[in-house]
Amino acid sequence: MTMNRLKIVLFLLLFTCSIGCHSNDDEETTIQTEQKNPDSEEEQSDTIENEFETVQNAVEEYGQLRVAGNKIVDQNGDPVTLRGMSFFWSQWIGKYYTPEVVEWLKDDWRCTVVRAALAVDHDGYLDHPEREREKIIAVIDAAIEQGLYIIVDWHDHEAENQLEEAKAFFGEIAKLYGDYPNIIYETYNEPLDVSWNQVLKPYHEAIIDTIRAFDPDNLIICGNRNWSQQVDEPAANPIDDENVAYTLHYYASTHKKWLRDRADQALSKGIAIMVTEYGTTEATGDGFIDVESSNEWWEWMEENHISYLNWSIADKNENSAALKPGASIKGGWPQDMVTESGHLVREQLRSKNPPPEE
Ligand code: MG
Repeated sequence: MTMNRLKIVLFLLLFTCSIGCHSNDDEETTIQTEQKNPDSEEEQSDTIENEFETVQNAVEEYGQLRVAGNKIVDQNGDPVTLRGMSFFWSQWIGKYYTPEVVEWLKDDWRCTVVRAALAVDHDGYLDHPEREREKIIAVIDAAIEQGLYIIVDWHDHEAENQLEEAKAFFGEIAKLYGDYPNIIYETYNEPLDVSWNQVLKPYHEAIIDTIRAFDPDNLIICGNRNWSQQVDEPAANPIDDENVAYTLHYYASTHKKWLRDRADQALSKGIAIMVTEYGTTEATGDGFIDVESSNEWWEWMEENHISYLNWSIADKNENSAALKPGASIKGGWPQDMVTESGHLVREQLRSKNPPPEE
């Protein structure tokens, strides 16, 4: 009897509410978005909206990241999509590795992750270890200060020839910063045409052993053959570590659906992927800016909860550079110092992580 009475009262309440709601369109919208029925369409559109809620401090929001199946998830086990910018080769355009630029990338570009690209060869870290190391440390410290994730990238095309140097570097970073959830290690940016099974996998395993001695849990992202476009190879022979994912790099004018198809196959085998570097241009870093292809890639990454970072924060005279020559090393860039690609990418970032209302 009591249950029946309760049902009648609830029915009357709902009935009254539905009459009231239909009297005003605004109220109807409010009521609908407050419903929490997991099967309803309203809930699904809620989920999509929530995904693009303003995130002010990414690391506070998401915490310690880890790999779960073929996704990267946050401290609550929810899939997370980080979006941000990669810096340029540290030895060539290291002037932007400043705390002010990191802060601007967070506040104005709405990044949740940045990537420090430690140049190894070409007059980089091997010849000037202290000089290049300082730039990376400056960006790591700034990212921690701003609550951003920071990918520490061994930016090299022949890292298997510098294994000892890479081990020493990553060991030091893991020892200094392994307790911070901010840090993501990228052990080898873009290998050339060398064997995954014979060369690349053993290389990564050696670096991972070194990192894990100091940092048992942070994400490690592994490059693969042909400028990190053969994610099918690690999918067939993955590394035995819980928190390893794999790098996929693309340039929108050069790489199209065929590369996404390959990545889909790799995902279906259970590996997780992070796009630690992509461009809107051709693979050279210059040439045609392909807006349509860029949009197709962004949609695919959003659907699959794949994090992505644009190449690059640089004022080089090439179309993938986000800044015009002479843009300030303190951030605060006016619109006319941002390039065509920079505008496209900035708008994408701001649409997915809207600035807080004034
Ligand atoms: Mg850790």
